[in-house]
Amino acid sequence: RVVVVGSINMDLVTETDTFPRLGETLFGKRFAQYPGGKGANQAVAAARLGAEVTLIGCVGDDALGAQMKTVLAREGVDTRWIATGREATGIAQITLSGGDNAIVVVSGANYELSPADIDRAEAAFHAADVVLAQLEVPLATVRHAARVAHAYGKPFFLNPAPAVALPEELLELTTLLTPNEHELAAALQTHGAAWQDVLRRRPGRIAMTHGKDGAYYTTEDGELKHQPGFSVQAVDTTGAGDTFNGALAAFWHLGMAEAMRRANAAGALSVTRAGAQGGMPTLAELEQFLTS
Ligand code: ADP
Repeated sequence: RVVVVGSINMDLVTETDTFPRLGETLFGKRFAQYPGGKGANQAVAAARLGAEVTLIGCVGDDALGAQMKTVLAREGVDTRWIATGREATGIAQITLSGGDNAIVVVSGANYELSPADIDRAEAAFHAADVVLAQLEVPLATVRHAARVAHAYGKPFFLNPAPAVALPEELLELTTLLTPNEHELAAALQTHGAAWQDVLRRRPGRIAMTHGKDGAYYTTEDGELKHQPGFSVQAVDTTGAGDTFNGALAAFWHLGMAEAMRRANAAGALSVTRAGAQGGMPTLAELEQFLTS
């Protein structure tokens, strides 16, 4: 059982021939909506891989919020603890033109997710095997979730994205930090230091993703380990990190090395297909990939 605390967004994507200039109105070529937000993405990734998943988040009292809950429920994610805020459901407005993009993110209701919403979902923490959070909801809420997980003796995984410096208390409460190289330096304020040294300084507490190279972690006694990535034809790398995190939580009971191997495989499969959630493999697809 995985409890995810995090963001829920709808990506609104338009394709145009040129970007509109200030004051200009133009006709676009295509429009599509894609469910997203790191919280929702990681919840869906874990659910597709067979975990029982509860997502704690906050949407607006609007059509996009209702749609996101429907999408999540269809993926088998327990949406009981998704609160309804006063602000609009979080969105990312993405304009694509000739290989470039312009993006506006409005966090909206995601920033209304409060410590009280965590307390309300206490039963979910009680039943959890792993609690997984990211940083697209208020830091105070993430910290509270870490405290509650700690109080229940549950492992707390933190994917520190987007990149930001983390308070020491949150680091102490985090069982496993799962940054990429850039987020690692930001989270621990270790710009300029070799990441290998940073990992060794917190033995057993960090798993760092490294794109197609795979991931790195240290054992409890400080030995640096590399879990190699899988070689695939990359089509769209959005959602690779989210897939990796959801998979790591889903397979945590198999032990660090095996969970990381499967998370790498899931991440690799996700980049072979378009879209964040669109690319996330099912358990059957993952197993077939690992035995082929
Ligand atoms: P983020 O998207 O958060 O920056 P990474 O790029 O490190 O994260 O990717 C997360 C994981 O997804 C990697 O550790 C790896 O397992 C997998 N992955 C990402 N890109 C590729 C790729 N091109 N080929 C194979 N696996 C990949």
